[in-house]
Amino acid sequence: MAEKIFMKNPVAEIDGDEMTRVLWALVKDRLILPFVDLKTEYYDLGLLNRDATNDRVTAESAGAILRLGVGVKCATITSNAARKTEYNLKSLHPSPNATIRAILDGTVFRKPIQVKGIAPSVSTWKKPIVIGRHAYGDVYRAVEMAIPGAGKVELVYTSADGRERRVTVVELKGAGIVQGMHNLDESIRSFARSCFLYAINEKLPVWFATKDTISKTYDGRFKEIFNDIWEREFKIKAEAAGVTYFYTLIDDAVARVVKGEGGFLWACKNYDGDVMSDMIASASGSLAMMTSVLVSPSGAVEYEAAHGTVQQHYYRWQKGEKTSTNPVALIFAWTGALAKRAELDNTSELGKFAKRLEDATLRTIEEGDMTGDLAHLAKPAPAKTLNSWEFVDAIAKRLS
Ligand code: NAP
Ligand code: MG
Repeated sequence: MAEKIFMKNPVAEIDGDEMTRVLWALVKDRLILPFVDLKTEYYDLGLLNRDATNDRVTAESAGAILRLGVGVKCATITSNAARKTEYNLKSLHPSPNATIRAILDGTVFRKPIQVKGIAPSVSTWKKPIVIGRHAYGDVYRAVEMAIPGAGKVELVYTSADGRERRVTVVELKGAGIVQGMHNLDESIRSFARSCFLYAINEKLPVWFATKDTISKTYDGRFKEIFNDIWEREFKIKAEAAGVTYFYTLIDDAVARVVKGEGGFLWACKNYDGDVMSDMIASASGSLAMMTSVLVSPSGAVEYEAAHGTVQQHYYRWQKGEKTSTNPVALIFAWTGALAKRAELDNTSELGKFAKRLEDATLRTIEEGDMTGDLAHLAKPAPAKTLNSWEFVDAIAKRLS
């Protein structure tokens, strides 16, 4: 076997749970370790170790991403009452993704992985549409009140030195509901910076849309901050890289998206991003055919799969079944991290390897070797569906 590819600096490797943990080891053993002299700082975010460390390991792993600049993360269980019993946990902890996101102050970018033979349901789409979702505030941090009967609802702001400003929300004649939500200038600035950084990296035009004709102050602030950050911090270098910025109204954006060819970054406010990323994912085929990367305004990046731990497959695997779970999103999390490491370290062989592994994965599917989730979407349908181990072997064969 040829000499292994040199890696200068490590990436933060963040292991996870259930079926994705099984596939994580498989992907490393068969597709990476035979070819790369892999350097990682390993963090075990498996639920039992998070519980044993009182979740300290999660914060440590986020610190490692910031320090090393690059991380790669497996899917993890978000604990709840059922998991507490199942794993006999000491306590419940917040979602690891939420904890890591809070430390990295990031924006999540999700992009479909397209292969020949699996067409998106929107026939005009030629290139992937990437969603950049703001992950703070709005309705996700809202307070709400059910109003039992007639009365006045006001918004009151009390400044630090005690002065008050108030506006009437509504004079109610009967029962109703109200909601108060917020966002922060600094969080919106981070969101804008992450989007422009990602777009320059990927050489994609940026679209951003809100409803500022109706929400003149709230959505108006989003529009203003995006414009301001673009003009003052990015415009010159972005345009030199061929990257443009386009603002429109959200309803106009939706109409353009379904009539267009794709091939842009769609920056979405928190709720828009929640809804639109599921629309893009399902129109593109499978959650396992999606890359997901968290980009911090500091430039640090974390690559992950967009799906969960595939719990039901794991229970079947525990009973001895070789499941047909699709490892493509995990493979692309690794290739994304290795390519980013290569770029930062100027180690072009590592970058070329990441590209070869991606190409071999796509070619494997395009030549008819695939897992069950894709088999029923593919045209023509493959003669046989592979289990995860056969599929990874089929990639390894094409890689070497
Ligand atoms: P999931 O793991 O994404 O799986 C939902 C269903 O989607 C699966 O049952 C399977 O459908 C299909 N699927 C997802 N990934 C697949 C793959 N790679 N190959 C083939 N099919 C795939 O979501 P979940 O079952 O709702 O969540 C399980 C656990 O994951 C939860 O504990 C949750 O907290 C965690 N979670 C973690 C993350 C993360 O860390 N990024 C994200 C979401 C959820 P079929 O059963 O029909 O084959
Ligand atoms: Mg959602």
